[in-house]
Amino acid sequence: MALIVQKYGGTSVGTTERIRNVARRIAKWRRAGHQVVVVPSAMSGETNRLIGLAREIQSEPDLRELDVVASTGEQVTIGLLAMALKAQGIEARSYTGWQVRVVTDSAFTKARIQGIDEHRLRADLAAGIVPVVAGFQGIDGDGNVTTLGRGGSDTSGVALAAALKADECQIFTDVDGVYTTDPRIVPEARRLRQITFEEMLEMASLGSKVLQIRSVEFAGKYQVRLRVLSSLTDPDLDLDTEAKSGTLITFEEDEHMEQAVISGIAFARDEAKLTVMGVPDRPGVAYAILGPVADANIDVDMIIQNASVDGSTDFSFTVPRGDFNRAMAILEQVRTHVGARAVVGDNRICKVSMVGVGMRSHVGIASRMFRTLSEEGINIQMISTSEIKISVVVDEKYLELAVRVLHRAFDLDQQPA
Ligand code: ADP
Ligand code: ASP
Ligand code: MG
Repeated sequence: MALIVQKYGGTSVGTTERIRNVARRIAKWRRAGHQVVVVPSAMSGETNRLIGLAREIQSEPDLRELDVVASTGEQVTIGLLAMALKAQGIEARSYTGWQVRVVTDSAFTKARIQGIDEHRLRADLAAGIVPVVAGFQGIDGDGNVTTLGRGGSDTSGVALAAALKADECQIFTDVDGVYTTDPRIVPEARRLRQITFEEMLEMASLGSKVLQIRSVEFAGKYQVRLRVLSSLTDPDLDLDTEAKSGTLITFEEDEHMEQAVISGIAFARDEAKLTVMGVPDRPGVAYAILGPVADANIDVDMIIQNASVDGSTDFSFTVPRGDFNRAMAILEQVRTHVGARAVVGDNRICKVSMVGVGMRSHVGIASRMFRTLSEEGINIQMISTSEIKISVVVDEKYLELAVRVLHRAFDLDQQPA
């Protein structure tokens, strides 16, 4: 008997028919003797709809109230799924994040989980009940409702698996695993049987929405065995087959691991670039510019500083596009303070990244990447590298093209030898 946390994404619970199928799948695991905790997302499109409603009232919604609204989608699916399970003869009970007590910090719309009280869930499991816990939501120390950032149900699932010391956390979604890149952009993308935790962390942080970055961080920190698999197969699929399907996130490279140099290509559409031009080049400038941006809780990603001969420097960095206007406003204030010439912004950029632990032992990957892009006339605006990834910023109109040509150039559609 194993203890499994199963997270089901929006498409997987997108209709009542699909919710019934999810219940059948869970019933199969229960009847095989496993303990199951289920974490559904809201029905697909629902969280967007709720955020849209909030924006109709306030163009920049009050974040506390936005979380109150946005978290309701999951309350619907836990109830429906618990009903569907009961209709299957499976004992189940729904819980919101605050009923469990998924405690988070108070960063509305991007709260972090600080602790989970798992006692009630353990009691249910011992009594043969399937707890159905709302993903994406929690409660802060003052009793406010919080949400965990878009895609946050993945993190709810993994955090619950960690708290319960589950044998595995299964992320059921609308693709049958982690692919070499988003199969919606490159139909030839190939499913990976395994990917290292380190690579998955990079892929997620560089934009692969198949897993929320924080869920991967959690899995790493608490050594949660994590698998991504399809919810769209026949719910009565043989359990042993299903248990081995999808993509396993592994902690170590083993000898069965595919030996590709590049494991995948990730991209992020919603990026923006800001440049402070003609900043006097002296100590403290980077801090003077980025300090106020960080204080506003805006994540800064790539940073480039170019010194010029006249003792001034241009300072560029990227932020999530949703934070672009706020970041521009902050820089306008900073500009006078640091004595910069101008501030310019571009919110029509994207980031394309290649990821692979094999980069550690292979040279020439970056130059091959740059050559491939140049052959297509794609201008690279920024570059950043780490041991296992190379990222470039390009005009957003080249996103699909860049991903496709790189996928082909690095033979990612071919099974590695
Ligand atoms: P869910 O609602 O189940 O959480 P998401 O839409 O958040 O599903 O994540 C699944 C989607 O992630 C897929 O439909 C796919 O388009 C996208 N995706 C992006 N990169 C990858 C990748 N490397 N492998 C698989 N899917 C990916
Ligand atoms: N429903 C939330 C969202 O759309 C959480 C999730 O799907 O993981 O972002
Ligand atoms: Mg998701």
